[in-house]
Amino acid sequence: MKKRRRYIIAGNWKMNKTAAEAVELARGVAREWGNEAGVEVVLCPPFTALESVARTLEDSSVLLGAQNMYPADAGAYTGEVSAQMLRHFNVSHVILGHSERREYFAESDAFINEKVLAALGNDLIPILCVGETLEQREQGDTLGVVDAQVRGGLKQVTIEDAENLVIAYEPIWAIGTGKTATPQMAQEVHASIRGILADLFGSGPADTIRIQYGGSMKPGNAAELLSQPDIDGGLIGGASLEAQSFSGIVGAAAKAR
Ligand code: PEP
Repeated sequence: MKKRRRYIIAGNWKMNKTAAEAVELARGVAREWGNEAGVEVVLCPPFTALESVARTLEDSSVLLGAQNMYPADAGAYTGEVSAQMLRHFNVSHVILGHSERREYFAESDAFINEKVLAALGNDLIPILCVGETLEQREQGDTLGVVDAQVRGGLKQVTIEDAENLVIAYEPIWAIGTGKTATPQMAQEVHASIRGILADLFGSGPADTIRIQYGGSMKPGNAAELLSQPDIDGGLIGGASLEAQSFSGIVGAAAKAR
């Protein structure tokens, strides 16, 4: 059965690629998927490569995302960038609350919530990342942890804005480790997130919100994960740094739809 939601595959390049290397990678992806209408493809280079990648993607359907932003419009926030600055480069998506931001930069749900609201207020689609540590999973706390992160990150989001949200479920123990949640493990959490979204916004809007899986997704395991009823795409780290492996995952989504 075809899903009603369009798959979204996003590459999070993290702190990798100079502007020149980023252009080369973006070109490789756009060559392969630049006119593919069936899957939403988003590339998230570091800030320093946004402008050059934006130019590279000008005539393609591949979209541009950022990896973070600051919630204020402007001001004395050394080292930060605002939603408007991102919009200026044709950025359409922004990853917020990635586990690396939560861990290394002590980002709280409340701060991430400020960013989500600022992104939505500036016509950016937030990709809100949630996920449990290995310890939390082993203690049986996965669904509780994810519940708190989803509700905390989405405070005051209106029903009208809800359809512009993307959630990424990323079990921290699966990020960059080569360990992937089984499709059944991931589906259980995705279904639970959809239930929370229905509680917050009603089942109509909840049915339209895409929930990506992230954590060592590769061409070889993508099809099975994407075939789960509540998995609507992938947030890809390691495998997005090379055009061929990223394209393999986009290809799996194109076939899965
Ligand atoms: C990520 O960091 O968002 C991620 C999913 O990384 P990887 O694909 O390398 O596990």
